[in-house]
Amino acid sequence: MSQPNRDALLDALRALDDPESGAPFGDAIRAVAVRDGKVAVDVELGYPARGVADSLVRRIESLVRGFDGVDAVTVDLGSRIRAHAVQGGLKPLDGVRNVIAVASGKGGVGKSTVAANLALALAAEGARVGILDADIYGPSQPRMLGLSGKPGTTENRRILPLQAHGIQAMSIGVLVSVDQAMIWRGPMATQALQQMLSETLWDDLDYLVIDLPPGTGDVQLTLAQRIPVAGSLVVTTPQDVALDDVRRAVAMFRKVKVPVLGVIENMSTHVCSNCGAEEPIFGRGGGARIAEETGLALLGELPLDAALGRSTDVGRPSVADDPDGDAALRFRAIARRAAARLARQDLNTAIRMPKISITD
Ligand code: ADP
Repeated sequence: MSQPNRDALLDALRALDDPESGAPFGDAIRAVAVRDGKVAVDVELGYPARGVADSLVRRIESLVRGFDGVDAVTVDLGSRIRAHAVQGGLKPLDGVRNVIAVASGKGGVGKSTVAANLALALAAEGARVGILDADIYGPSQPRMLGLSGKPGTTENRRILPLQAHGIQAMSIGVLVSVDQAMIWRGPMATQALQQMLSETLWDDLDYLVIDLPPGTGDVQLTLAQRIPVAGSLVVTTPQDVALDDVRRAVAMFRKVKVPVLGVIENMSTHVCSNCGAEEPIFGRGGGARIAEETGLALLGELPLDAALGRSTDVGRPSVADDPDGDAALRFRAIARRAAARLARQDLNTAIRMPKISITD
């Protein structure tokens, strides 16, 4: 019986679509070995994919089984997350492989709700995750994640992040009183945020999700310029007015050369808590329209759902509160798609060199 051709298999697997990234697997298929009709495929996804690992393996197996002479297939699926390039040669943060910034063109669209649930969803998919609440004039992560108490510090004055539902978390809201932060002008606010960012002792994070202040003013622009961001996400509601704000947010990131991984449409439909009926009260397809217009991916849509808002407002975001519920599954799908898109970007080659001291 003929042996399957290794090169033909490798080419076919590399051309196979990865539904999470929306592009072919490409180099994620690291190697294919063929021996006596047994095929072993080595895959390194580069993003966390616990929720779809089995279906990805089946997808790969079924393609291989379509080749003549295949008796058995094994797939080794790795999800090692590597550090990706950041804008303008900025120095990566210690203890953080990738910063993902979550932005919105204006307040009230659910940016903080999405940031909290997205961070938890990345963790549920298998990554090590932290969240930094940089929403200086209205920090909501302490409430959303149920953070309490003051963070500890180390001997050399590094701040220890708090822990919430299995992720590391830090917020300007647990360091200073909201009244104090409210009176900070732009430069003071950005300096305080940068200090919080660099002084927190993050512990070996694959992703640090940053909940940016809403809008596209000076503070946001300065942060987008100075924080070493690997990728950003823009949250919107479907209305036309909100879409204008998205265009501004996308333009801001493009200006500072931070890749936008995609758009997330929040409150896209209303789900009636009595009868479960779904209605597009703010219009339909706004996120899809902006995605088409800007060439960005629409990573997912989330309904206006009283339970989603309520659980997040009392410190138990949906992904932690009801891990198998519809909202959690939607957030996990969005998390995978965002991470899969980031995985396709250039790696960060700014390797930190060890210090060499010469003694005689
Ligand atoms: P932003 O950070 O954009 O200002 P928030 O995340 O603080 O917005 O959300 C504003 C309010 O809307 C919060 O009370 C939140 O619980 C609620 N909310 C956000 N998204 C949803 C949703 N999909 N369904 C129901 N309520 C939501």
